[in-house]
Amino acid sequence: MKKELAMLKKWQKRLRLQDWDVEFEYLKPHEMVSGICQIRWDAEHMSAVISAVRYEDTPNPDSPSNGIEHSIIHELLHLHLRTVSHSDETGRRVKEAAINTLVSALMDAYE
Ligand SMILES: [Zn+2]
Repeated sequence: MKKELAMLKKWQKRLRLQDWDVEFEYLKPHEMVSGICQIRWDAEHMSAVISAVRYEDTPNPDSPSNGIEHSIIHELLHLHLRTVSHSDETGRRVKEAAINTLVSALMDAYE
């Protein structure tokens, strides 16, 4: 958990989201709305909670993992894009793909 919090702080700073109070927690798969990582935010109070499933609790632990750092950056980018809405499922998928592309580029850039 110490590792995850350090990553969160590091990426909050890089992404200029230090003004946000962001927490991190691990949940069990059945406690998630969907997927293996999610973020909830309260824009008025500038607070957010990133929830993730532990790698060993993921449905396909044999599949390649992008790791928790990828998930943390992904969810932080959702904060930046919180007012960019999408009208349908295609729009949602395009937005998710764009975020994942940015995460990969950022991780490569800071490698
Ligand atoms: Zn997403």
